[in-house]
Amino acid sequence: MYLTQGLHRSVSRCPDKIALVNGDRQFTHAELIDRIGRLAAALAGLGVAEGDRIGILATNSAEYVEYALACPWGGFVLAPINNRWSLTEMAYQVDDAEITVLITDEAALPQALELRDKCSTLASIVCYGAAQLPDDCLDYEDLIATSTPIADRLLAGDSLAAILYTGGTTGVPKGVMLGPGQIMVSSMGSLLSAGLPNLPERFLHVSPLYHMAALAGIYQQVMLGSTQYVLGEFDVHRLAETIERERITATTLVPTMIQRLLTLIETTGADLSSLIHLGYGASPISETVLRQALRLLPHLQMCQRYGMTELGPVATLLTPADHRDITHPQRLRSAGRAAMHTEVRVVGENGEEMPIGQVGEVIVRGGNIMLGYWKKPAETAHALRGGWMHTGDMGYFDDDGYLYVVDRLKDMIVTGGENVYSAEVESVLSLHASVSSCAVIGVPDPDWGERVHAVVVLAPGHDTDASTLREFCAQYIARYKAPRTVEFVPALPLSPVGKILKRTLREQHNTSMGQPS
Ligand code: ATP
Ligand code: MG
Repeated sequence: MYLTQGLHRSVSRCPDKIALVNGDRQFTHAELIDRIGRLAAALAGLGVAEGDRIGILATNSAEYVEYALACPWGGFVLAPINNRWSLTEMAYQVDDAEITVLITDEAALPQALELRDKCSTLASIVCYGAAQLPDDCLDYEDLIATSTPIADRLLAGDSLAAILYTGGTTGVPKGVMLGPGQIMVSSMGSLLSAGLPNLPERFLHVSPLYHMAALAGIYQQVMLGSTQYVLGEFDVHRLAETIERERITATTLVPTMIQRLLTLIETTGADLSSLIHLGYGASPISETVLRQALRLLPHLQMCQRYGMTELGPVATLLTPADHRDITHPQRLRSAGRAAMHTEVRVVGENGEEMPIGQVGEVIVRGGNIMLGYWKKPAETAHALRGGWMHTGDMGYFDDDGYLYVVDRLKDMIVTGGENVYSAEVESVLSLHASVSSCAVIGVPDPDWGERVHAVVVLAPGHDTDASTLREFCAQYIARYKAPRTVEFVPALPLSPVGKILKRTLREQHNTSMGQPS
């Protein structure tokens, strides 16, 4: 199985159908495969050898989709860079992955040039969409126009195809090594497990394409023979407009994006009737948001995926049928069941399997598990001990095999000897009308070891106080789990894919001069 397999399949089935839309240009599958062969040839012409790492530093674009296909076509390794990082963090990644060629867009060109000065391995910059280019940069479209397509190198299943950096939610991002086999097993296994007919879509890429889940969408969609559209920088108005204008049928969002989209629908009445499939995941979603989505978009088939970069990325799915199963409403709080390509277990500290309903660490085995962490053999051995990926996530199973992810091991709060899972407290807090979003963290406390502390963003026009919220929580969960202190903030710190950065909140809290109420 290879990453370009979908391209070959789609060209043989529907060569003249539109495969990729880039502004007012559009390419059929036949045209796209030609461009991919040329781009791979051009990269080889720059002296890039098989196995070399090629970076991309850009906002989402159609060229990003081409890059994701041309690298495996030429036998090169994908190493996309998170464009929200600081220059120092980017330089760390370029040096760590030893990137030799960097593809970039006009907006990121100044940073790309600085990276070339800083990083010894980086030799060539290829840029698209720039009005003017410095002499020592190469023009993307010129390279494609002047190259002759090379044959697909058909990178084999276990060879290194990508080094993708984890989200950096809990610490310094790690380079996850994946082969075509792992990415395709996860991509196809999750398509099959969703229980949907596998038909071409008008698919809109919205989440950042350097993120594993978004990148995997490219390979899935070429396999289906879809028409792919790409939204640049995230903007909820442009998202709604694009869905309406292009009659988009499918997209994948992260929970914070869904929340903003629903607010927009409620306030403007945007017409999203073309949208049939909505995938989401990457972080916990509040049940309130899910119910609102199901109510406002009754025709929508929603599919939640739980996983991580290290799993290529999918481990479990909550299918569209699960979302609408009114006989089991509690399942909306779960991350669904193991996808076809995985085995999922919940284990205790000594690796023993936990009984149904009891929380332990989620571990996963299957053909989707990473090859390892790039240049980190000790971390690799630890994460993959016994042949299982140890996710660092805590969860439990119900009788029917539904997994409930309750927290990250690193976010779990131990207060007065009791374990409190922050996600549980957050889901209760978010039921309160005054709470727009929230994060629950443990902060050092002389009496309790750690104290349950909530950081809350108020809903517009609402007000409340700490004791009201505490009493509200105590109606649903044990009193020791209810926040002892509450702090109101205008916004929560988010990672580029919209995950709440609890480590930043903990740091801020420890250094804060403010007076939590
Ligand atoms: P880092 O590993 O650098 O701290 P990260 O774990 O956020 O960053 P990713 O691999 O992008 O990097 O994210 C995987 C994590 O996201 C999972 O371990 C899990 O905690 C969370 N996650 C993913 N999907 C879901 C989901 N559907 N529900 C709850 N949490 C999820
Ligand atoms: Mg992680």
